[in-house]
Amino acid sequence: MPKYSFQCRNCGTGFTVNVPWQEKENAQCPKCGSKDKSPDYSKVGVIAGSACPIKDTGGICPSTGAT
Ligand SMILES: [Zn+2]
Repeated sequence: MPKYSFQCRNCGTGFTVNVPWQEKENAQCPKCGSKDKSPDYSKVGVIAGSACPIKDTGGICPSTGAT
């Protein structure tokens, strides 16, 4: 199961969730419960390197997806 790291836009808390890509939008801040968050790719080690596993599940690869 991939891990996704986020930073809460409401209170600024950084947190990591263990959920499928399609469910990451439902991840809540453990501190305030807000779902308003921004992804923190710098903490997602699985993205490092040439492979982009999240792209296969509909995600956006930050290193190659933005053109
Ligand atoms: Zn929060």
